[in-house]
Amino acid sequence: MGAMIKRTMKKQAVKERGTIRFIEENDIEKIDAYWGSKNNWEAIPAKVSEMKKFADWDKVIKLDHGYDENKPTSQLNLEDIKGAAKFRGGECLSTDMETGNWAGKLDFKCAFDHTFTASPKLMLEGGHFCPQCELESWNYKERAKREPFFAQVWNPIQSKADGREYMKSYQN
Ligand SMILES: [Zn+2]
Repeated sequence: MGAMIKRTMKKQAVKERGTIRFIEENDIEKIDAYWGSKNNWEAIPAKVSEMKKFADWDKVIKLDHGYDENKPTSQLNLEDIKGAAKFRGGECLSTDMETGNWAGKLDFKCAFDHTFTASPKLMLEGGHFCPQCELESWNYKERAKREPFFAQVWNPIQSKADGREYMKSYQN
């Protein structure tokens, strides 16, 4: 049974766009996209039983959101928002904000010089920042260099990930 499954899977994997075909043809771009890098692929043990299982379930990593989360939201002011924007590699361009107003829109610039408006709620609670960066591509390596907020989740897995930029495309 095991041999049969293996045969069936392998048949798929050597087809065009199959993951073994990437290795056979040394198609680095696709290898990077699928495994992160050729080194990652080479590090996979020959036997499934030799695979190391994830065991670090109890380790908790608390993310820094770039502002004092103990402060009641009714007291958040422009300085807090400016600090949070800086932590996201950008800048809050607005010069005033009504303290505690989470819904009012403010002006921002991201680490790649795009400008946009967003409410503090969208940024701090919703986790959004620059809409243009999100639309254009997956460019995590470069973003991590400029955005400390993003770097804290990206850098710990960096050795397993590649630094390519993948453009996004949309079909309507
Ligand atoms: Zn941007």
